[in-house]
Amino acid sequence: MRFCSLGSGSQGNALLVQACLGPDTEPVSFLVDCGLGLKEVEERIQSRGMSPDQLSFIVVTHEHGDHIGGVSRLAKAYGLPVLATHGTLAAANGFDEGIRLIELQPSQPLQILGLSLEPIPVPHDAREPICLRIEDSLHRLAVVTDLGHVTPHLVASLQDLDALFLEFNYDQAMLDNGPYPPSLKSRVGGDYGHLSNEASAELLRKVLGRQMQVVIAAHLSQTNNHPDCVMRAVADIDWGETHFECATQDSGLEWVSLK
Ligand SMILES: [Zn+2]
Ligand SMILES: [Zn+2]
Repeated sequence: MRFCSLGSGSQGNALLVQACLGPDTEPVSFLVDCGLGLKEVEERIQSRGMSPDQLSFIVVTHEHGDHIGGVSRLAKAYGLPVLATHGTLAAANGFDEGIRLIELQPSQPLQILGLSLEPIPVPHDAREPICLRIEDSLHRLAVVTDLGHVTPHLVASLQDLDALFLEFNYDQAMLDNGPYPPSLKSRVGGDYGHLSNEASAELLRKVLGRQMQVVIAAHLSQTNNHPDCVMRAVADIDWGETHFECATQDSGLEWVSLK
């Protein structure tokens, strides 16, 4: 399996995943979320050496614009099915006719094109938001962004991972002292908002196993966070062989190939 981010943050998210199904089978490529405009996402996919024609489907984690904003146009342009929970599809309420919709059931892995997608319900201020555990024939990747707090179910679902794409949304002091109005500060920092660097580091300590090859810090706030703050929050973690880096809003993240 390999993956790259085409952009990560509140201005638009899209994660490109290429799953491997064995030596004699074509890999399956798909997007998790698309909050980028059509031209932008086409260019960014091409910049990673691929074409949108090679995509098989789009998974949508929830209906916030930075995750769903570009889904409809991309799905329509390339005839891609859209996978999301019942609540997300209902809240999205605007997919053009002709786009095939596939409903995800929280906590029930869906087998599709030879890979497994497990939607993990998470607390976030959307209708039925999920994070996602992806398994192909060799590897397990989890995409965990947009959640206000960590649940025991999430911790249990993130064991034995080879790779983790994890939100590090805000630094508590930067949020507290930053320019956001009080209502937005409470939303972001609340139980149904986003994870702070400290909360994400704490989650990481619970799920970082020997087999974890890579952890990517994702969805960093451009106003309330900085990669240096993320690095400070994880400074005491014993990484062993695990690679750690931050994805960015503008450049995303280059391909990460799992061994
Ligand atoms: Zn988001
Ligand atoms: Zn969100």
